[in-house]
Amino acid sequence: FDDRDGWIWIDGKLVPWREANVHVLTHAMHYASSVFEGQRAYGGTIFKLSDHSARLRKSAELLGFELPWTVDEIDAACNEVLKANGLTDAYMRPVAWRGSEQMGVSPKGTKPHLAIAAWEWGKYFKPEIAAKGLRLDIAPWRRPAPYTAPVHSKAAGLYMIATLSKKHADDRGYDDALMFDWRGQVAEATGANTFFIKDGQLHTPTPDCFLNGITRQTVMDLARRRGVEVIERAIWPEELEGFEQMFITGSAAEVTFIRSAGPWNFEIGDLSRQLAKDYDDLVNRRLNT
Ligand code: PMP
Repeated sequence: FDDRDGWIWIDGKLVPWREANVHVLTHAMHYASSVFEGQRAYGGTIFKLSDHSARLRKSAELLGFELPWTVDEIDAACNEVLKANGLTDAYMRPVAWRGSEQMGVSPKGTKPHLAIAAWEWGKYFKPEIAAKGLRLDIAPWRRPAPYTAPVHSKAAGLYMIATLSKKHADDRGYDDALMFDWRGQVAEATGANTFFIKDGQLHTPTPDCFLNGITRQTVMDLARRRGVEVIERAIWPEELEGFEQMFITGSAAEVTFIRSAGPWNFEIGDLSRQLAKDYDDLVNRRLNT
């Protein structure tokens, strides 16, 4: 992914894509002192940009470092990257980390850095697979307890269990994985939140040990606007048998239908389709906020 044309913003400057490098003795690479964002631009407008920039700052703060760029400055840099690369519909990846100024577990003496890249990225899942609904593996790893890690930070370190679970799913021919939390409750997919439908009501697990996704919050609003009751609560795997529909949400994944999760099967019903359409209309500015 490093050998292509384009411009990447690093610490205030645009540099050619191939030259956007960091040193091997970067604190983040050894000790996971890195946080990131993922957002999409639709027709030249980055959806909920300031929410993403604010979450990036918050994620860093939860790891004990402050970014010397304000939300407005990060927003402006994201727009600059989009323009510099001549993109209107793109995925964007801001990433912030502790640098190579010092080596050792102590972060003292390291400086915060920020890079922002953007590239064309169609659907997160292949459209022909997503159209039928994904098949989810049950992840062998669980989301950690809030007292063991800063679980509300979009921290690279927390993606170790996501990449392991995704690989486990890939190796077994599944499209993604459903992760439980340390209590055994339903948590999320490897890069998206989860929703279930039963009797016209929307159920979603309480985000007390995983990200309260920006897409998740958006879809909950869209559902309420349609008069759908949204129930946020602890969901146990045994209950999955009784749900009729399931989908996942994320800035990259958008609204993606699920056909099965482990032994549990779902249908792609009208409400799932309606909410996916509402989300698509909203991000493409065909729906008023
Ligand atoms: N959970 C995880 C682990 C994720 O990586 C993402 C994607 N950022 C989400 C949930 C959904 O978050 P959002 O809707 O803000 O993109």
